[in-house]
Amino acid sequence: MQKYWGALLALAVLFSCKTEQKKDTEESTQLPVIEKPVPKSYGFNLKEFSVIRDTIKRGDSFGELMIEHEVDYPKIVKVAEEFKDTFDVKRIKIGKPYVILKSKDTTQITQFFIYENDRINYTVVDLRDTVQAYTSRKKIKYVQREVAGIIANNLSESLDAIGVDYAVTIALSEIYAWTIDFFKLEKGDKFKILYKERYISDSIYAGFEPIEAAYFEHKGKPIYAFAYETDSLKQITDYFDQEANNLRSTFLIAPIKFGYRVSSRYNLKRRIAYYGYKIRPHKGTDYAAAIGTPIVTTADGTVSESTRRGGNGRYVKIKHNGTYSTQYLHMKKQKVKKGEYVRQGDVIGWVGMTGNTGGPHVCYRFWKNGAQVDPLREKLPAAEPISDSIRGTYMAYIDPLKTHLDCIEYTVLENEEENLLTLNE
Ligand SMILES: [Zn+2]
Repeated sequence: MQKYWGALLALAVLFSCKTEQKKDTEESTQLPVIEKPVPKSYGFNLKEFSVIRDTIKRGDSFGELMIEHEVDYPKIVKVAEEFKDTFDVKRIKIGKPYVILKSKDTTQITQFFIYENDRINYTVVDLRDTVQAYTSRKKIKYVQREVAGIIANNLSESLDAIGVDYAVTIALSEIYAWTIDFFKLEKGDKFKILYKERYISDSIYAGFEPIEAAYFEHKGKPIYAFAYETDSLKQITDYFDQEANNLRSTFLIAPIKFGYRVSSRYNLKRRIAYYGYKIRPHKGTDYAAAIGTPIVTTADGTVSESTRRGGNGRYVKIKHNGTYSTQYLHMKKQKVKKGEYVRQGDVIGWVGMTGNTGGPHVCYRFWKNGAQVDPLREKLPAAEPISDSIRGTYMAYIDPLKTHLDCIEYTVLENEEENLLTLNE
């Protein structure tokens, strides 16, 4: 994963699509405005207080901290007892930042204690006359970003240089995992991404929202991707292309089209009489069928193995993408060779009894990230296209996004010009 993105990249640049977007979404297309920290924070104008900032240290307790800052004991007790639901003093954690606001005059009375629950949520304990406590959250600002890149070799620094979160590139690879083999990106492949970054208090980066739209040009073939919610009740959002096709393709349920029965399921605790009832995990699903029944690949991919070995007998293994591979055992004969590209549903061999098997069947093994899992229990990506009933709405929705993507230009960074020249040769 790291490697291909490392080898990947470049010439990416923040770019504002001036003419097209200014009309209705001017605000959201602005480049990030990193302002100086505003003194107003946690709903207070910090200039009006003397401010103490620190983090909870090992051994700190709320009570001792408050005593240290001369808060009256009854008030401390009141916080601990009456505001447990809002602020449980026993649950303060080492390393969490806190702020104490004291009056600016000579009395230096502790007025507020602010505890940061996380980067966004904080709790304010008001220690003035009547003790109060409440939880609030920092304002999050969303900043639209546009990134465009041309893939080249050894230009990974460029990605850093323009300040794109590495996780964004991972998110992009996940969107295209089914359509593009990211291990085989080619020099000159291009991409564009539209997404929003989150900023806390206007200036602190706090991750990004799911990618809204993307464009990937692999070997000269363009594939758009648009996030679209197809089921608002279940909140199902998927990525679809410019023709409303789902970018994810699913697996066929079985490696045999018809005339089979599942004779043994994936079972890590299987015990077999033959082996003295010892646990013999079964990491596949057995589809029993007559000898000679065609076996098909459950998804597009490249044959990574087609051989005969030990208990597996004659088998074929197919790599579908960086995550998934499938394997088909005990074949009578394979129909494909290593390195061959196969499409979902293609015949790759025939049911047989080679290797360790008591009857004719295909043992179907499903690999995810190098481990064998149960495909019947896996949540495999759905591949439903946009239904006809919402197709029109979808096309109208993606139209401006597509225009937006189209008008993002690949801009050459000054020190990348040399590389681009090499690229164009
Ligand atoms: Zn099996």
